[in-house]
Amino acid sequence: MEGIREDCGIVGIKSFKGENVVPRIYWSLLTLNHRGQQSYGITTYEKGRFKSIKELGLIADIDLTRIRKLCGSLKSNLGIGHTRYATSGSIERGKLLEDAQPVSVSYRDRQLCLAYNGNIANVVPLREEIEEYGIEINGTSDSYILAYELLRGFLEEGDLVDGVKELMKRVDGAYSIVGITDKGDMFVIRDPYGIKPLVYGLKECELFEAASESVALTINGISKIDFVQPGELIIIHNKSIEKYKIHHGEEKMCAFEFAYFARPDSKLRNDKYVYEIRRELGRRLAIRYNEIAKRIDVIVPVPQTAEDAAYGFHIETGKPIEPIIVRHRYLRHRAFIMTKRERGLIVSHKYNMLLDRVYDKRIALIDDSIVRGDTLRHIVSILKNAGAREVHVFSTFPKIISPCFYGIDMATFQELIGFNRSEEEIARILGADTVNYQTIKDFCEAVGTKNLCLACVTGKYPTPYAQKIADIGRKKALAGEKVGGRLVEVGG
Ligand code: SF4
Repeated sequence: MEGIREDCGIVGIKSFKGENVVPRIYWSLLTLNHRGQQSYGITTYEKGRFKSIKELGLIADIDLTRIRKLCGSLKSNLGIGHTRYATSGSIERGKLLEDAQPVSVSYRDRQLCLAYNGNIANVVPLREEIEEYGIEINGTSDSYILAYELLRGFLEEGDLVDGVKELMKRVDGAYSIVGITDKGDMFVIRDPYGIKPLVYGLKECELFEAASESVALTINGISKIDFVQPGELIIIHNKSIEKYKIHHGEEKMCAFEFAYFARPDSKLRNDKYVYEIRRELGRRLAIRYNEIAKRIDVIVPVPQTAEDAAYGFHIETGKPIEPIIVRHRYLRHRAFIMTKRERGLIVSHKYNMLLDRVYDKRIALIDDSIVRGDTLRHIVSILKNAGAREVHVFSTFPKIISPCFYGIDMATFQELIGFNRSEEEIARILGADTVNYQTIKDFCEAVGTKNLCLACVTGKYPTPYAQKIADIGRKKALAGEKVGGRLVEVGG
């Protein structure tokens, strides 16, 4: 897969026994580093004060001495953390640090801090309204907008529950939030459609943790996982936990989480592990395209997210899987500090291929999804040059035809290889013999629900403002107009 990014991974932990939660936040963030590699941050709360660190890069790169220091300087029984990739705001290095989360905002002598995963579709009108109030917004990302909206609603409505009701009426987009008020209450919020995942669990009534994926909890020894419901608010007080269903809507969880983003060892909405769903996606591809599947000699997964699907394809067809493509484990992306040429170099050096094993072979090349197609084009051309007789591309995710306004790094129609192109045209661009996409029906059956956001493959968005931007953007793209940035930030 070509390095499409999520923004972000979140975690919030409260110890009712007074344990310092910073080490646990660190471990959880480490398991969530795949959801954001540009920056990380931790904020804790003690005696009415917030203490924070924010840094650029991978949390996995912090050395032991620094971890020990952080555990001391941030020490508290209550804290939240975040790993980020910027799908909102500036990508300048200085701004990336300023926009790193958790963010803290103040208004009329009150303060709160939050970390969130998602994107706000109506960020432009909300920003204008907030500025009309005379509030100066510190950073460029939509996390500040979300935090101000929540704090303003909280103050105007008098309590957090009514503040969240207001937030859900005004904010159009995807948001899974963990936060802390200046009175030391932790809160957990999932948007009315539950577009982004958010799970929680309790360990022996002593420790509460909420996070983007279950793996962040299991690493801390929490094995019984619950799922924050769409439109739900959970408040964690000093001695009690309260749950409120603020909005009663239908779940529309991001389908892409199952194909690509989430870790295979996570559970996102029920008892199924993500790897089990991916294996089923591969099996269904083999059944749906059985004429081609029958003819191939070897199954080759694009590492690493397509490996489970390749196994499913193998179970169905009995054909061998060969790890022809090997990803360089230590080649890391820092897209925000790379030129276009450097990015091209990364694509061409990202994989090593066992080319003397492909001569005269008919290959089923399995990938999790096809967004821009750059990496696949490179891989197919190398396989063909090495003498592969046929290369058939299989995508576990349906054809992506529309951008995402909910926190995934595909922000315009123009960048999508699937926009306004047939499978035959896409195969031609990739240099492949055929391109075979998962059908939407098979995808939903493999996940086990139709209650998914599938906007990027159907063009139908669960929230109205996102739909409006998409409709404007689609018209412009069909007319051949260029866009000068992310559609949510230029208004379509
Ligand atoms: S538009 Fe696609 S990538 Fe974005 S939230 Fe919906 S399913 Fe996920």
